[in-house]
Amino acid sequence: MTHALHLHILGSGSKGNCALVEGPEGLIMIDNGFSRREVIARMHELDLDENKVRALLLTHEHGDHVSGVTVWCRRFEGELFASLGTADTKTYLACLPFTSFAPGAVFEVAGVRVESFPTSHDVVNPVGYRFTCAGDAIGFATDTGVLTPGAMKLLRDCRILALESNHDVPTLRTGPYPRFLQDRIISERGHLSNAQAAEAVPKLVTARTEQLVAMHISQENNRPSLAVRALAEALGASLDNELGSSATLVRGAGAPALHIRAAGQNRPISCW
Ligand SMILES: [Zn+2]
Ligand SMILES: [Zn+2]
Repeated sequence: MTHALHLHILGSGSKGNCALVEGPEGLIMIDNGFSRREVIARMHELDLDENKVRALLLTHEHGDHVSGVTVWCRRFEGELFASLGTADTKTYLACLPFTSFAPGAVFEVAGVRVESFPTSHDVVNPVGYRFTCAGDAIGFATDTGVLTPGAMKLLRDCRILALESNHDVPTLRTGPYPRFLQDRIISERGHLSNAQAAEAVPKLVTARTEQLVAMHISQENNRPSLAVRALAEALGASLDNELGSSATLVRGAGAPALHIRAAGQNRPISCW
């Protein structure tokens, strides 16, 4: 069976974020925290055409998610979407023709149904998204201190789930960050830990979930293998190798396997 949607993650983490949902009418970009040159180079690495981007959606206004927006928009005719107040936080965003929506709003872009939900982060109106088209579904949530009830509802039963797994709490607590910054990351308006993501996934993953991607992994306070291990353990999946860079949950009788891996800061990946 061919699927209607695919997710391409150009990069995920505090040094830059950009992902693309591929649907029937082109690409929908989520955040743009890289230079235009970097975005295009990474798209080409995944065999994607930068002229096929139909819309740009923001999750929130932190620099690692929006620093590339101004330059990108100089040569971009597609629609721009951000939650209420998000574009107003920065003059360089406020002057762009954003369509603003209330967190929880549902709209359609390039043949894909987009459902937004509030996340919990230290910004104006942070959101995550569920994308659906022709029975296929992608869930996307990063930069959230907790998973809100809306997030739990909309991230459930997706074929592809991209979920923040930012830090390992013991690594963060014994790491180089000052205490106030550690507290901010751990707070309800900070970032999701490996343990929080692991606690959530058994409630989110269903028989149709084929791909689970750990997102926004901290380079100082986490390791991809720690995030993958935590998710694998929570779901009863086995690690694919000793490094623990990916894991698989084999299911019986014709059901698809679930693959677990981590999105990186530097290496773009495609989820088909
Ligand atoms: Zn971020
Ligand atoms: Zn953020």
